[in-house]
Amino acid sequence: QAKARGRNGYQFYSPSMSGEGLERLRLEALLRRAIEKNEIFLHYQPQVEIGTGRLVGVEALVRWHNPELGLVAPSRFIPVAEDMGFIKPLGQWVLAEACRQAASWDRAGLVVPKMAVNLSVRQFERGSIAEQVSTVLRDAGLGPGRLQLEVTESVIMNSGDALQLVNDLDAIGVGLAIDDFGTGYSSLAYLQQLPVQTLKIDRSFIKDISLDAGGDRNHEAIAVAIIQLGKSLNLSVIAEGVENEEQAAFLLRHGCRQAQGYLYGRPVAPDELLTRWRRDADEAGGTERGRASDS
Ligand code: C2E
Ligand code: MG
Ligand code: MG
Ligand code: MG
Repeated sequence: QAKARGRNGYQFYSPSMSGEGLERLRLEALLRRAIEKNEIFLHYQPQVEIGTGRLVGVEALVRWHNPELGLVAPSRFIPVAEDMGFIKPLGQWVLAEACRQAASWDRAGLVVPKMAVNLSVRQFERGSIAEQVSTVLRDAGLGPGRLQLEVTESVIMNSGDALQLVNDLDAIGVGLAIDDFGTGYSSLAYLQQLPVQTLKIDRSFIKDISLDAGGDRNHEAIAVAIIQLGKSLNLSVIAEGVENEEQAAFLLRHGCRQAQGYLYGRPVAPDELLTRWRRDADEAGGTERGRASDS
């Protein structure tokens, strides 16, 4: 009996029912109910101005905690959600929750200038997105200028309607950022036609920057080229995955003024972000008042 079952015990299943296939089915089944079971939530990571440490925005990052699976990384469940057609309800939930959160921080005394939300390719389809976004903003009571949607180059390039959709979003006043910039292959001529405000330099180009000769010079060169491109096209550039002062100094030296990364803060729960940055804002206010009364 033991022999018939084989080493892994998966002998009886057809190839599509292999361990991996089963794992996948289980993931899908659990994911399908994750929203209603309140297992999905958002963490928020600060985006700062490098020179001053001022908060310029936050990025909403989705999290899934399942009692059986524990914490599941978005890199694992987002592709599954895309395949099984669950990304629309999930993306919709994320968008609405992030906008509600920004409005709620406003009321608590922390005005986050920009809420950045990731969009997947499946959400980027005709006839829905701009209208959905308008409704969500209205319900949350958040101005469209406070929202920035992040899409990757491949989302833009793989969507036949990209130009139309992006223009629709632009028309309602929402900002747009190209995420993981430099890893795809978007045509620069095309990019230049899009009403995009921000390029996010992918973490892979930031990771190896260092003061000593140990850094990857090619990656550094790409980071610098993206900063230059942003300047030429009059876009703001933000670096992702900034983990140390060397990287921050390098970026600032080359004219990149905004960053996001563990150096400034990991993605955290809303209360933690509020505590950390409201205190910061209060201190900044205090300093200014101090200065004003000094003079
Ligand atoms: P992303 O949009 O490029 O987000 C940045 C990722 O880098 C996040 O991973 C963040 O936690 C991580 N990160 C930030 N700073 C650092 C750093 O200094 N060092 C390192 N090593 N990592 C850093 P996370 O939260 O695991 O998300 C991974 C990806 O999943 C995101 O990449 C995004 O593509 C996708 N994602 C996350 N939330 C959503 C969502 O709500 N909707 C969609 N469609 N995709 C999402
Ligand atoms: Mg992103
Ligand atoms: Mg990114
Ligand atoms: Mg990335």
